[in-house]
Amino acid sequence: MPDYFSRVHLYIHVPFCARRCSYCDFAIAVRREVPSRAFVDAVLAEWSTWQAHRAWIESPALDTIYLGGGTPSHLDAPELDRLISAIRRDRPVNRGAEITLEANPEDVTPGNAAAWIAAGVNRISLGVQSFDDVVLKWMHRVHDAAAVPAAMSMLRSAGFSNVSVDLIFALPEALQRDWLRDLELALALEPEHLSLYGLTIEEGTPLGRWTARGESKPPPDERYAAEYLVAHRALASAGFDHYEVSNAARDGHRARHNSAYWRRAPFIGLGPSAHSGFGTRRSWNVREWASYQRLYAAGKPVQAEEEQLDPEQLRLEELYLGLRTSDGLACNLIPAGAARDWVANGWARTTDERLRLTLEGWLRLDALVRSVA
Ligand code: SF4
Repeated sequence: MPDYFSRVHLYIHVPFCARRCSYCDFAIAVRREVPSRAFVDAVLAEWSTWQAHRAWIESPALDTIYLGGGTPSHLDAPELDRLISAIRRDRPVNRGAEITLEANPEDVTPGNAAAWIAAGVNRISLGVQSFDDVVLKWMHRVHDAAAVPAAMSMLRSAGFSNVSVDLIFALPEALQRDWLRDLELALALEPEHLSLYGLTIEEGTPLGRWTARGESKPPPDERYAAEYLVAHRALASAGFDHYEVSNAARDGHRARHNSAYWRRAPFIGLGPSAHSGFGTRRSWNVREWASYQRLYAAGKPVQAEEEQLDPEQLRLEELYLGLRTSDGLACNLIPAGAARDWVANGWARTTDERLRLTLEGWLRLDALVRSVA
């Protein structure tokens, strides 16, 4: 059995949200009532189609399961349990596998938290984004700041010992968001992991429209960089390892599922818009829940497209994913002239035959990869 298939990772995209956040361009379906049963039926039908796939046949077990979205915490808990139980019945799941659920604070209740634990979830990624009610309202988030410590306390009481907190930085200056205060409040919750994302303005989102009309102005690049560096310092002094461009963890709590993507391990994606990847093959499903559901009801494949990456595309993927992490890349994968230049500019350092980007390098990640493409 090839080593490559010894660990397979499963992603399930749960597209339902109570409303669209102002910055979000993910594949979501805004629903007041979540069609949990219909969703789980459709996803399990897709799951069964993988039984004939090489990844299924050759891989001994799943190593991680990640329920992302959308808002997976909106799923009815019994349906979530049915979904995870069916996957476990069909496929061995490694002992100690990481099973993550993305949750929004407003969905965390003692009952839900206990049900998630009972279903086998052992890691929560909590969508906090900010502790400032003005900012949360501007973002169209459903929760307020007070909901966050309450959610954390319920998660801990239920037994979750691995919780990640998401925050967004580089907000428009008009919001007067105090980034350091938000970082301190996040750290006071004592999460095991933090994910920090710079706000991006996407066309077709409310924020994209506000920006096009001049009603919202992105912050200058210097502010993005300054907030990124402030976050790094705050997290490092609190004992976090900034192990990937947007992620920091306490010892032993790196996100295993996302780390598998960055190492280019094989992964199966289920649900609308989910991607799958094995070796040189990449495939992805139709984006919208309505189309996905229609295809499922008609007994048709939900896959939209697939492609085989050519050697150049694979090289770029390897560069981009490798440089994202603090593990870096083997030096010989970067042209020697470029590597010398990056080191001379303070964007990278070399140790143990590996090239690792510095914080200044991570701030230029896309441009650096483009420069050697
Ligand atoms: S909750 Fe998450 S997925 Fe849903 S709209 Fe907001 S940012 Fe997008």
